Amino acid sequence: MNLKTGALVKTSLVDYPGMICATIFLKHCNLRCPYCYNGPLVNDSADESELVTLDEITAHLEKRKNVLEGVVVSGGEALLNPDAKTIIRKAKELGYKVKLDTNGTLPELLKELINNPQTKPDFIAMDIKTNPANYHNLLNASNLQDKTDYSKVLKESVKIISGYPKDAREFRTVLVPLLVKKEDIKAIASILPEDASWQFAHFRNDNCLDPLFNSLKPYSDTEALELVEYAKTFIKGAVLR
Ligand code: SF4
Repeated sequence: MNLKTGALVKTSLVDYPGMICATIFLKHCNLRCPYCYNGPLVNDSADESELVTLDEITAHLEKRKNVLEGVVVSGGEALLNPDAKTIIRKAKELGYKVKLDTNGTLPELLKELINNPQTKPDFIAMDIKTNPANYHNLLNASNLQDKTDYSKVLKESVKIISGYPKDAREFRTVLVPLLVKKEDIKAIASILPEDASWQFAHFRNDNCLDPLFNSLKPYSDTEALELVEYAKTFIKGAVLR
């Protein structure tokens, strides 16, 4: 059966540093970040007519292989979707560079992907959303059964990704006022490699998974810059996109 597996952006100039790429947002996620902009993919409520099947994705990659340079496999949490491996393998066979976006909570699956040359991403971007010690309370409140030790799994993922060359990895944090304050930045910095590229993005208060976050005022430009300057005191490669 060839089910709808995610959304396809056929051409993107912004998702893979320095490359024209196609971006695939795969369904399913193990977190429920209240500010998530991909709610319909995360809770499986997307309009099926806007989604594509695995066959449609591979057909697009075959058709555009002389035009596009890269493929970004994103989510949801891409590592949870069984089609991720097939897409990466196919994209590499076709000569694409592959970037994986991950939330970093599944180090075992990440390791499995990297250890196989046929599925090893060329570039990895990992999100770190707040102080790892607060993931349970802030990002997964809907799942009280979840016993994941987020501090441990995030550290493991950071360690795995740190094995990549500096220009083939990045860490990303969205400046959500309730989740990212000075003390959270200090806690996140403590698990990153010193030479990390740490990309900060402004929070947008529209289409959030938790509608209450649509009324949350984003940081002003000045406040955001101050936080990134603070991050720079730990990690020189911190920047505001
Ligand atoms: S922001 Fe990312 S990790 Fe969080 S719920 Fe959305 S897709 Fe999942």
